[in-house]
Amino acid sequence: MMAGAPDCASKQIMESAFDYIIVGGGSAGCVLASRLSEDADTRVLLLEAGPAPRSPWIRIPAGTSQLIFPGKYNWGYATDPEPHLDGRSVYVPRGRTLGGSSAINGMAYVRGHPGDYDQWRQLGNARWGWSDVLPYFRKSERYEGGENEQHGGDGALHVTSPAIRHPASQDFVKAGVALGLTERQDLNDAEQEGTGFLHFTIRDGRRHSTYDAFLRPIAHRRNLTIVTDAAAQKIAVKDGRATGVHYRRGRETVFASAKRSVILCAGALDSPKLLMVSGIGPGSTLQQHSISVIADLPGVGANLQDHLYIHHTYRSTPESSINADLRGLRKYLHGAHYVMTRRGLLSLGASQAAAFVRALPGADRPDLQLMFRPVSWEFSPKGTLVIGDTPSVGASVCVLRPHSRGRVGLRGPSADQPPAILANYLESPVDRQAVAAGVHWLRRLFETEPLRSRIIAEVAPGSAVQSDDDIFTYARKTLQSMHHWSGTCKMGDVRNDPMAVVDDTLRVRGLDGLRVVDASIMPTIPSGNTNAPTIMIAEKAADIIRRATRQAA
Ligand SMILES: Cc1cc2nc3c(=O)[nH]c(=O)nc-3n(C[C@H](O)[C@H](O)[C@H](O)COP(=O)(O)OP(=O)(O)OC[C@H]3O[C@@H](n4cnc5c(N)ncnc54)[C@H](O)[C@@H]3O)c2cc1C
Repeated sequence: MMAGAPDCASKQIMESAFDYIIVGGGSAGCVLASRLSEDADTRVLLLEAGPAPRSPWIRIPAGTSQLIFPGKYNWGYATDPEPHLDGRSVYVPRGRTLGGSSAINGMAYVRGHPGDYDQWRQLGNARWGWSDVLPYFRKSERYEGGENEQHGGDGALHVTSPAIRHPASQDFVKAGVALGLTERQDLNDAEQEGTGFLHFTIRDGRRHSTYDAFLRPIAHRRNLTIVTDAAAQKIAVKDGRATGVHYRRGRETVFASAKRSVILCAGALDSPKLLMVSGIGPGSTLQQHSISVIADLPGVGANLQDHLYIHHTYRSTPESSINADLRGLRKYLHGAHYVMTRRGLLSLGASQAAAFVRALPGADRPDLQLMFRPVSWEFSPKGTLVIGDTPSVGASVCVLRPHSRGRVGLRGPSADQPPAILANYLESPVDRQAVAAGVHWLRRLFETEPLRSRIIAEVAPGSAVQSDDDIFTYARKTLQSMHHWSGTCKMGDVRNDPMAVVDDTLRVRGLDGLRVVDASIMPTIPSGNTNAPTIMIAEKAADIIRRATRQAA
């Protein structure tokens, strides 16, 4: 046992060893558990800290509005006071159930730009360029349009268009075209730049989390053990090899041993935390918390990246907004309609249409994602989401390739303590420039027909916010997380980059039998939402791990 570390003397020893122990049943963990257990003679244990996903809100796409708050299925973290946001702390929801954040997210299916992955290759990750990863995006996918060069047609994950294309969302796209953007039927084609409707991980009007798509259909496999309410406390390491995991279930602490590998899939905030409380991380941080250093890896927890977003609200003509449908009695009518048909407004993801544009000088691919929804909302001080009481629409600016870097640290030596998160939003002047460019871009869209005729007034940021300085002030006060945390166990060239945590086969440097497979391995954040890229990472990791096992046999 490590000095100062949590008491993990296990009260019960699991009798039989597993080949693989996967820690975290989220977007990556569900995919990996499904793929690794395809080999009938491979024994897989999946540990998930949260409960089984039983709430009906998880299956209803509009349920994101309920699940986004802290609770049984949501860790509800927050950042430390952010130095460039006047000391404001930013709310950080994370999924806490099988499916992980894919069980509470906005369901947009966006892969990013091919250049993102070619950049990963240039950074020393030989087998992670676009041509290497595209087969794994395709493998996971059951695209509504069927198989083509870009998409898979018979994978597990349903990828579909919104059931309703609201006329106001259509006019957002038309305004983009009027400004010279290309209209795209598919924002996941290799080009990305342009405007169109988003795709979603929704199947027949229901959320398709990675649990629904990958795990639930095969959960009965005899070689797969799934344990929920099982919070990993520490990775056991002996003579430089990860031998198993101590986890807590109820009042018991259990030790499970792994013959081949322990694989961390706890996400970009909890995977680095688990490494650190296990003695794997920056030596100075570990010593500060009296944790004995097993491997001094300065990169663990560093390189934190997230997409920030700036919210806009516009008062609109009544027919441009669904606010009135989601309030009062009409809300219940739409609820009943959904229950009977699985269609209608409750079957939609958060945003509808998007534009991917280049804003900063010299950008070789889109650096802003502008999103539109025919609805507006606010977060009340009571911690609930309130739909706007006048007809209004919402839009947001997302900075796709932030230059600012944050970090995940420890609040204490125990895995039970939430991670210390510092996003460092707006630390880089480049990000501030991108925010201003994004607000100007979005305003141009709203000033362009046919969208313009639907708008009565800009409510937020509001007419008083004009200069770049006004916009930074507004951003400091209001910007939010897009919840795309990544980068904290960076994949890289472990011979030349001291900050790389895993190599390009996702093995933790300097240790045997330990890998990380989740959004934390992304060296740079992709130009889009991060669920699809995380699923791709898990698909590719499964192939890498199975190949390594065959070679070792
Ligand atoms: C509110 C919200 C909206 C989002 N909207 C979108 C969107 O529309 N489109 C999109 O592409 N992306 C979206 N994202 C981001 C996307 O969902 C994530 O990037 C992705 O799910 C990350 O996958 P992951 O496997 O790295 O982590 P997660 O899916 O978060 O999985 C980590 C899992 O590990 C478990 N865990 C943590 N600690 C332990 C422990 N000690 N022991 C055992 N288990 C543990 C957690 O409970 C969780 O289930 C959103 C995220 C959120 C939170």
